[in-house]
Amino acid sequence: MSRKVNFSAGPSTLPKEILEQIRDEIVDFRGEGLSIIEASHRSKVYDDIHSEAISLLREIYKIPEDFEVLLLQGGASLQFAMVPMNLYRGGKVEFVDSGSWSSKAIKEAKIQNINFETIASSKETSYDRIPENIEFSDDLDYAYITSNNTIYGTEYREFPETKSPLVVDASSDILSYQVDWSRVDLLFAGAQKNAGVAGVTVVVARRELIERESSKTPIILRYKTHLDKNSLYNTPPVFAIYTLNLILNWIKSIGGVDEVHRRNQQKAKLLYDTIDSSGGFYVGHADKSSRSLMNVTFNIKNGDGSNNSELEAKFIKEATKLGMVGLKGHRSIGGLRASLYNAMDIDGVKQLTQFMDNFKSKNL
Ligand SMILES: *Cc1c(COP(=O)(O)O)cnc(C)c1O
Repeated sequence: MSRKVNFSAGPSTLPKEILEQIRDEIVDFRGEGLSIIEASHRSKVYDDIHSEAISLLREIYKIPEDFEVLLLQGGASLQFAMVPMNLYRGGKVEFVDSGSWSSKAIKEAKIQNINFETIASSKETSYDRIPENIEFSDDLDYAYITSNNTIYGTEYREFPETKSPLVVDASSDILSYQVDWSRVDLLFAGAQKNAGVAGVTVVVARRELIERESSKTPIILRYKTHLDKNSLYNTPPVFAIYTLNLILNWIKSIGGVDEVHRRNQQKAKLLYDTIDSSGGFYVGHADKSSRSLMNVTFNIKNGDGSNNSELEAKFIKEATKLGMVGLKGHRSIGGLRASLYNAMDIDGVKQLTQFMDNFKSKNL
């Protein structure tokens, strides 16, 4: 079987050795005589996986003692609703609008009638950058950012400093670099881009922030409920947590989050260099100040600077023929996008950049 080089934005590529391990273990989990997806979530066999995933995450992501890890369901999108439900205390919230995912989070907050303001946005420039000079107020219930904008291909270099609790949607760059926890109070991410498969959402939060119970919030949607039960309040998504655990072990085995970050920088540089040295044939969507290491968005240009959507379609078609898939840009901005998540290896990126050079020579 030949595997495709998968540049999909999510769900996305996984290390082949992890898929093989899942295949090998799915019928008989490590000699237990049953599958991990058949085991009771109250059994020791599952509990070991559950605990290992949480402790490994703490270890490799260097999560401080006063933070808790929750493994929830509902995707990152449920967090758009759960964050205001649990953190809003009748004060004020401020958002940075850096693209579609932040807009969705703002929409959910709006429904809950909270007092909020969007203090910075890059909408005017088609979300081609992280807004500059972000200054949150000091006394907010929370401040909100999206660390990596999957659709537009922009990413924060560092998180803004604020006295207010900072909430970060890190769905598309979790575990891709070491987080400065002194600046973060709650970080969440669906697992399916950088940490495994859809079904589990990782929430890392300062304990004091999520300890409060609000009697108006449905029990299942309170952080406190999951905190008290170590994320075993109800049946957890066992397959997704098992896969998360495999990914965490894999990251540890290759040298941890710092090594993953080094590789991510190397991969992204290779691709951005190819774009920048193409003499204007390929042009990146994101401003250089905000380029994402995870999602590289670009267009093929006509001589007059307009997008050449015909050539872009041809690019995708020819790349697909060569086994490179998932390169179509998100429908909201079009163009091309290559997602270089943790599990994408440098050889995949080399294959893409060689193709890009050839394609340029043939279509100039
Ligand atoms: C994919 C994505 C989401 C949505 O995740 P779901 O798990 O599908 O709800 C939210 N935020 C960002 C930044 C994403 O990339």
